[in-house]
Amino acid sequence: MKKRFYIETFGCQMNKGDSDLMALSLETAGFDRADGEADADILIFNTCSVRSHAESRALARVRSVRKSDSALVVIAGCMAQRLGDSLVADGTADLVVGPYQSPKIGDIIAGCLGGRKTRAFLSQKPEDFAGRIQPAAALRRDKLPYHKWVTITHGCENFCSYCIVPYVRGKLISFPSEAIVRHVGQCVAGGVTEITLLGQNVNQYGMDSGDIPFHRLLERVAGIKGILRVNFLTSHPMDFNDDIVRVVADHANITRSMHLPLQSGSDRILALMNRKYTMTRYHSIIEHLDRTLPDHAVSTDLIVGFPGETEKDYELTLDAVHRVRFDEAFMYAYSPREGTPSFVMKEELGRSQKIERLQRLIEIQRAISREKLLARIDRPEELIVEGQSRRSPGEYRGRTYLNHPVVLPGGPGDVGRKIRIIIKDVRGSTLYGERSA
Ligand code: SF4
Repeated sequence: MKKRFYIETFGCQMNKGDSDLMALSLETAGFDRADGEADADILIFNTCSVRSHAESRALARVRSVRKSDSALVVIAGCMAQRLGDSLVADGTADLVVGPYQSPKIGDIIAGCLGGRKTRAFLSQKPEDFAGRIQPAAALRRDKLPYHKWVTITHGCENFCSYCIVPYVRGKLISFPSEAIVRHVGQCVAGGVTEITLLGQNVNQYGMDSGDIPFHRLLERVAGIKGILRVNFLTSHPMDFNDDIVRVVADHANITRSMHLPLQSGSDRILALMNRKYTMTRYHSIIEHLDRTLPDHAVSTDLIVGFPGETEKDYELTLDAVHRVRFDEAFMYAYSPREGTPSFVMKEELGRSQKIERLQRLIEIQRAISREKLLARIDRPEELIVEGQSRRSPGEYRGRTYLNHPVVLPGGPGDVGRKIRIIIKDVRGSTLYGERSA
């Protein structure tokens, strides 16, 4: 009987994409997917290292199954890379597989079950990097049947001082544009209508390989017949440029929602974070978006309580939030990550002071987000329908081109289709719409 595997994924969308490739690799190597962890012979945990909380959660989870199960336990992803073979030595896992090698995990596990002695697969040599653009993956569906995440780069060399990613995911590797465009074409031929191009910083696409720049890739993908929407994540403000904005403006099927992580409103803190832009530069990007894209949304990430952040620096972040008026923000209190430059920076604030700053920020941003949603009432919008709403069988949910969540009357035939609506109400952080002609 074939051995069965179960994959549990922590962290970002990149990890979710890698888990899909792991499943493909395991099936190709002759393993079957288990219905749940209880009937699996191989338990794989694809982990995240971005926050220490994410690692503690993953470790607690792995140790809980370790106590009760005789299955082969594999830790993959960023935590595997960071903690390495210590996870095997202390008995937490049987096998560790880093992000470079996780897409070939089927062969790795088959080899180990066949008697291979190596238990740590963590090389970051170029020849050990397993590519992410795989033809067979075009036929597999994401959670949404019409949507596909397409990873266009791996790794990051920006070395923001608080971030572990460059150490665990390694150097920037851009995948060939021809392969990406071909892959998207295959996805669309298979019924996909929405694509999200994914990378730690998509704006740096091609800079390592001399391939076409990101805006040209975006243009080529948006030009593929049958694509209703192209999204892209994430854009570092350092190199988000006018060419990208021009391509967005020229293509109605590219999202109008830009995710531009600001992190702090203080130039001094931005320099300590090694973010390589100033507030003057950030505001000039926002002004250019305002001039070029009449209707658009900006979302962001913000960190409060970075080492050395004074009340004045914090106030500058609040000023930036008031001035930019983000549609949405993902807000965090700083937590140090061992192995990053900021880990050794002296912290002046205690946990409770950071949380107090975070709560004040969240309150301000929530009010702005709500005002921006209320401003959509009575406006015509277009959205792509994602699926049935959890609350009522006659209601469906979707997202507008500004990435706002909407509930509307609908049916199963609407899923993956573009629908015109008029916004009629806001409840919580959700818009409610009616169909229009
Ligand atoms: S751009 Fe900065 S925050 Fe983003 S992954 Fe790279 S180092 Fe981390």
